[in-house]
Order: sequence, then C-alpha cells, then structure tokens
Amino acid sequence: MALLIMLLFLAKGLLDKGCSFTEVSKDTVNTTELIAKLITQGNDIVDGIEKMFAAIDGSCSLLLLHKDGLYAARDRLGYTTLTIGKNENSIAVTSETCAFVNNDLKIDKYLQPGEIVLIAEDGLQQKRAGGKESQVCAFLWIYTGFPASNYEGINTEVVRERCGRFLARRDKDLDVDIVSGVPDSGIAHAIGYAMESGKPYRRPLVKYTPGYGRSYTPPTQETRDLVAKMKLISIEEIINGQKIIVCEDSIVRGTQLKNFTVKKLLDSGAKEIHVRPACPPLMFPCKYNLSTRSINELSARKAIKSIEGSDIEDVSEYTDHTSEKYKKMVDWIAKDIEVNSVKYQTVDDMVSAIGLEKEKLCLYCWTGKCPTSEGACCKKSSCAASK
Ligand code: SF4
Repeated sequence: MALLIMLLFLAKGLLDKGCSFTEVSKDTVNTTELIAKLITQGNDIVDGIEKMFAAIDGSCSLLLLHKDGLYAARDRLGYTTLTIGKNENSIAVTSETCAFVNNDLKIDKYLQPGEIVLIAEDGLQQKRAGGKESQVCAFLWIYTGFPASNYEGINTEVVRERCGRFLARRDKDLDVDIVSGVPDSGIAHAIGYAMESGKPYRRPLVKYTPGYGRSYTPPTQETRDLVAKMKLISIEEIINGQKIIVCEDSIVRGTQLKNFTVKKLLDSGAKEIHVRPACPPLMFPCKYNLSTRSINELSARKAIKSIEGSDIEDVSEYTDHTSEKYKKMVDWIAKDIEVNSVKYQTVDDMVSAIGLEKEKLCLYCWTGKCPTSEGACCKKSSCAASK
C-alpha cells in the first residue's frame, strides 16, 4: 500500500508538470516509465538520476542503456547493491555477484550508495561518487540473496552459517538429536547451528527437485499452498522418534511452516520440534519496494492482536527481546505453529552475523526504524520511527 501511495504521489507530481504516461493500469502507472520520466526532469542523465534518487524513498538501483554506454547507479541509501566485475576483455555489472563466477569475471568494485558510473568503450568512468550513508537491506544475507553472492564484500552463505552459530550459542542446554534447515535458505543457517552445537546436520525434508520454486511468489493462496505442499518430501527413517532443530530464514505468516513443514515432521513421527528463525520477528512490511507482505498477515502481528485483543500502534515492547510481552508473543507463535519451542535471532546477533555496522543496515522489517541521521530519515507519517 505504501508503495502504491508513493507511485501515485510521484505520478501526480509529473502529471502536474505536463508529463503523460503511455501505460496506466489498475489506477497506477508503469514503474519503469515513471522512473524514466523522473530522470528526464534532469539537465542531463546524471542530474536526472540524482533527481530521481531524491524523489524515491526506497530501492531503485538501476542500469540504463544510453548512447554513451551503460550507466549503473546504486540507489541513494544503497538498499539494493550493484557490483562491477571485470576480466581482460569485459566489464559487467550485477546485483548478484554469483553471476561473475562461471563467466570468469572478478569482482572489481562494489558501488557505494548513490554512486553513478558509466561503462563505455574506453572503460569505466565514475560520474558521481557515493555517499557515506548506507541502508543496505539486511534481508539479502538472511533470505533473499543467493548463497554464492557477495554484498558489500560479505558472502551470503558465510553469513547464514554465522547466523546458525549465534542461534546455537543461545541453546546451550537444549537436548536435541539432529539439526535441520528448511530448504533452501534455511540450510546454511542449520549447517552453522550444527557446526557450533556439535549435533549432526541431517535432512529430514528434501526438495522434490533442487529447482522447485519459492512458494510465496505465486499470485493465489491456492497455488502457494500447492507449491508448499509439493516441494518438500519428508524422510520418515530420519524423522521418527527424533528431537529436531528446524532452522528457517524467517517466519512471515507462519502458515506454510505450520501446515506443511511441521505437519510433515509430525506425521513422520518427530518427537520434538524446535524452530529457530535466523532473524528476529518480522513486525513491519518492507516499505522500500523489496517485498510484498502486508502488516496484518505477519505472524508476530497476529500474536500481538491475540494478546492485546486488538491491533496496537506502539509495538516497542514486542520488539524488545528481553521484555515479558516479547516472550508472550513468541510463546503464542510456538503454540500456533504447534512446535515445542521457537527462539528467534536477536537484532544484535543478526547484525554481528552480517558483519556490517548496524547504522549501515536497513533493519526496518524488525525495528520499524528509519535511518536516523539528519536528511536521510523519510519523516513520513507511514513510518513507525516518525511517530
Ligand atoms: S524493510 Fe526489510 S526488506 Fe525492506 S529494505 Fe529494509 S530490511 Fe530489506
């Protein structure tokens, strides 16, 4: 909803200046056309990209093919990364550095937030230096990024292993038989957990085929459920009678975890199930154009509504992992998904696992806080931090 409001606000500003849009559907405009129109408001391409960056509150890193060459520009606060790769004959740019490996390209440079470069026949030219402020999306390392990709010089798989290690350190007294991860993104978290705890890593659930799609992307709930049901197959010989750690990247709605993952483990005779999400409870949907969740469907919000009797505005007690209310919320979620325990990663452990300074990461999903430095905060009424 926040994204739609921002699109309409930007489109109205352009319409008021006499711009027109060729593609309008469902009361909104084509986002690529909107970005292009914003860029044309500048005196030249670089000025136009900067004007567009100033207008957009969120992720809008881009590649722009122009008669001068290829412009690559990372958004103002660097929510989405862009990286330059090189070999003797070529220069390439990508958001996922795994694309370089099999194409014999080496990472040459991570673009800084707000940095603009031009890749032309005579090589790479910097058109604008990057800024110091950064709000790179922490979810890249936790869930959305590809394991073989590096962002800001930090590899995703390695971060996930560190997340698992942090989770295991908080479980010193827990007696379990095996450690597992929900494929695919939970696997590296589980491997880290197993390495730290010394408990065996096993695969009670395997994917039907390695390439089976993500189950949250199909447009209807029916198709999402079908994908979730079919993609994982349980192995009773590994599960029966076992006390199992299940590492997961995150709990969004909790419905697929409950209805498919946990159910399959219980149906195959699991003795105990302990869920360990690699990030804290998701409290706020992304408002920077990187995900499509709505606030009411988040598992933590459902728990809060049940505990409080209605939706509440101020959830600060629930984001504090030392508070009683936080504990109640987590217990509610464990009961709801029918497992023996849930223990979330803390914000500080997640940040330590990533290895960047906290101030450089977007943590809005978990904290509801915008960048705090002067000028970077959106100060919009939709933002929890501005309340
Ligand atoms: S709100 Fe969440 S998903 Fe969106 S950029 Fe921030 S950390 Fe990433």
